[in-house]
Amino acid sequence: MSLTPRVLLSIDYEPWFALFRHYDHLRDSSQRRELDGGFTRLALDPILEQLGDAKASLYLVGEIADWYPEVPQKIVSAGHELGLHCHIHRPLVNVNELADDIVDSASWCKQYHVRGYRAPMIGIREDAYALLENSGFQYSSSIYAPTGTLFQRNNIWEIPVSTIRLRGSANRYTAPRDFSFKLLLDGEFPYGSSFSIGLMGKQILKIIDGELKRGLCPSIILHPYELVKPTSSARLTRDLILNPHLVPFLRDKSSFLKELLRNFPVSPLGTYLDETLKSRETV
Ligand SMILES: [Zn+2]
Repeated sequence: MSLTPRVLLSIDYEPWFALFRHYDHLRDSSQRRELDGGFTRLALDPILEQLGDAKASLYLVGEIADWYPEVPQKIVSAGHELGLHCHIHRPLVNVNELADDIVDSASWCKQYHVRGYRAPMIGIREDAYALLENSGFQYSSSIYAPTGTLFQRNNIWEIPVSTIRLRGSANRYTAPRDFSFKLLLDGEFPYGSSFSIGLMGKQILKIIDGELKRGLCPSIILHPYELVKPTSSARLTRDLILNPHLVPFLRDKSSFLKELLRNFPVSPLGTYLDETLKSRETV
């Protein structure tokens, strides 16, 4: 049985300030909640509406589940896959720090049978896979690699975010594989990154179309603040002026999503994994 090509659509559901590294030191949850300003609560309904009947994976920042327990509830009730994107958004490559972070989100992850993990900023180390296994996860989507790559570390499946290889080839993909100049220099373009989508817009749809025609399942990321505009504030404007390289992240991508859903079938990553494993059994 062969797998129907589809786009593996994911939304890393995080506050708008997750983009900016200078908020990483802010560890007081009530201050972070205030900074979010209700955005993560208010953006959900319009995003679910934009998705319509399409089902996606929403990797949630756990503190949002603490602030607004209705957010994970609504995601699951709407038939989407709920995954973990970390508890407090910041670089989380250190495995001990990651272990503590996973514990902080353990209760809602258990409640909703979460089995997928997406590392913040696609930053993961090899030793994190054993931790993910021990924490009850089944898969991770935390590196960039060419579409169609799927492998196991410990007992964790890794479903990478898509790149397209322009030249060269790699035989083994080792974490970390984040969006870096090294990746680009080695001939891989990470078109599944919402940064790339912000830069190239509908050109990415052409790449996706080509990949689907080759029988592959492109894996792409979007963010809530790319689909629903956060209330502009002097703070956000200042942050963007200071970090102009982040502007593509905040470019509106709701028309991209609309076009994507009009043209291509999509599915959550968990569904893709289930179907892939099943198709392997029946070969
Ligand atoms: Zn993120």
